[in-house]
Amino acid sequence: VSENLKTACISIVGSDNVIDHQDDLFAASADIWASGVAAELVICPASTQEVVELVKLASSHQKAVIPRGAGLSYSAGFVPDRPQCIILDLRRMDRIEHVDRDDLYVTVQTGCNWKTLHTVLKQTGLRTPQYGVASGAYSTIGGALSSSATFLGSARYGSLSENVLGVEVVLADGSVVATGSGTSTASTGFRRCDGPDMTGIFLDDSGAMGIKTSATLRLIPAPQAKEYLSFGYENLESLIKAQIAIGRHGVASEIMGLDQRRNQDLAAVGLDFLNGVGASLHIGVEGLDLEIVNRYLELIRSTALEHGGFELANTVPEMMIQGEDDDPFVDISPYLVGANGERYVPTNAIVPPSKALQALSITSEFLTEQRARMSKLGIFSSIITMSLKTDFLIDTYLYWHDQLTPVHREYMNKDSWNLWGNHPANIKAREAVEGMRHDLRDRYDALGASHAASGRFYPYSERLGPDEKKLLHQIKNTLDHEGIINPGSLGLSGTNRET
Ligand SMILES: Cc1cc2nc3c(=O)[nH]c(=O)nc-3n(C[C@H](O)[C@H](O)[C@H](O)COP(=O)(O)OP(=O)(O)OC[C@H]3O[C@@H](n4cnc5c(N)ncnc54)[C@H](O)[C@@H]3O)c2cc1C
Repeated sequence: VSENLKTACISIVGSDNVIDHQDDLFAASADIWASGVAAELVICPASTQEVVELVKLASSHQKAVIPRGAGLSYSAGFVPDRPQCIILDLRRMDRIEHVDRDDLYVTVQTGCNWKTLHTVLKQTGLRTPQYGVASGAYSTIGGALSSSATFLGSARYGSLSENVLGVEVVLADGSVVATGSGTSTASTGFRRCDGPDMTGIFLDDSGAMGIKTSATLRLIPAPQAKEYLSFGYENLESLIKAQIAIGRHGVASEIMGLDQRRNQDLAAVGLDFLNGVGASLHIGVEGLDLEIVNRYLELIRSTALEHGGFELANTVPEMMIQGEDDDPFVDISPYLVGANGERYVPTNAIVPPSKALQALSITSEFLTEQRARMSKLGIFSSIITMSLKTDFLIDTYLYWHDQLTPVHREYMNKDSWNLWGNHPANIKAREAVEGMRHDLRDRYDALGASHAASGRFYPYSERLGPDEKKLLHQIKNTLDHEGIINPGSLGLSGTNRET
């Protein structure tokens, strides 16, 4: 990198916030799955104005600019495809700017993590409808908005993107755009659609359209009562039928299914009641008071049992949703690797309920075909299902022993790292997993699946029809004429000239 560029970056953010050590650059340029080329610099801005200056500076040096949050994703959304780039690590932008208790919204900088936001809002008795992901002790609001992240509250409220009222975005030319009703100088950000929905262009975009610097999110009164239910099923097929029927009631906040492999792993760490259970369904239910919640619980229980379920202790949802001391955003160390320190990578597909069983069949057929190869290479799988309002998400995890990544190192506590951090590289299995993951993704796509976190792994522009593709390129070209913002993500190249 030129000394000129580095000095100019330092003059904007200070020397402590410009990273140029080769190991650190490599670490910050990789997610949990993919590593590519290392960025020339990683810069940590603290304000929108600093982002503006950095984008203008990068552009004048013909460098691409790649936004990232905590780096806890798996689809190469911020993994550079060229060395001539700088990464903006937005985690210093973690201020909660305004909580509006009258009009029920919060404006927060996008580098803020879920735990911080949730903790501050708790003191006000308010909450965002969808309120976090399992990595939320670290992962950011900006990462969630860019990758359709879902979990806490998602069975009832969908993804964060469905609950955002507006965003502030720095575009490739350094202009700062606010979307939603906050755009008008006389107004505030209380409404999403004040004319055409310009917010949507910047959501689930894998950071391809601009650098989101703040977001205004809808608030609701925090539910005063929350309870949990779990049910066992003979297999995933019967679980999915029950999951869809329960999802249709629209009263559960979280609905998550686990396959036998996951049940076995949980049984091994003390949840004996999951031993031998073919598939288990875990549900969170919340409401204004216990009376309302109890009515919801009865409705869910009768549907779950009608579909062949048997009730289990509710320890899993209590652990995952309620968390420790009412804090769901716990240490992620135990969840970063498999039960015996294996690396893993998930591949997701989101389908309508009518295709949920087909998505399962595709997965089962695929895993059956691969069984011999997987067993030879020590690869195994597990499946998680989730409800996103009426939509159905299936996540197929592949596990194998391998060297862990810099992201594991950053987030694993010392004990876990000492235990699992020294696996030798296992390129053969890793390459097999890579091939399998592509194959499975393509099979999901043939079913017409949508995906969370497209990044550089799931096809997005490639899946569009010719006219839609042309429109996408026109939008990108308008927002980022030189193609300097996160080139390669969403399948958009750096030059943007092609349609
Ligand atoms: C243990 C564990 C648990 C997880 N649990 C869940 C879960 O429950 N639900 C779920 O959906 N996912 C989950 N994930 C996946 C992932 O952590 C989430 O999707 C998370 O929201 C990613 O946020 P991040 O800050 O790490 O984003 P990053 O990985 O840093 O970035 C993700 C994408 O967003 C873009 N981006 C980030 N910030 C900005 C910005 N300000 N402006 C523009 N673009 C930006 C990046 O370019 C990239 O394309 C989990 C992962 C792990 C390891």
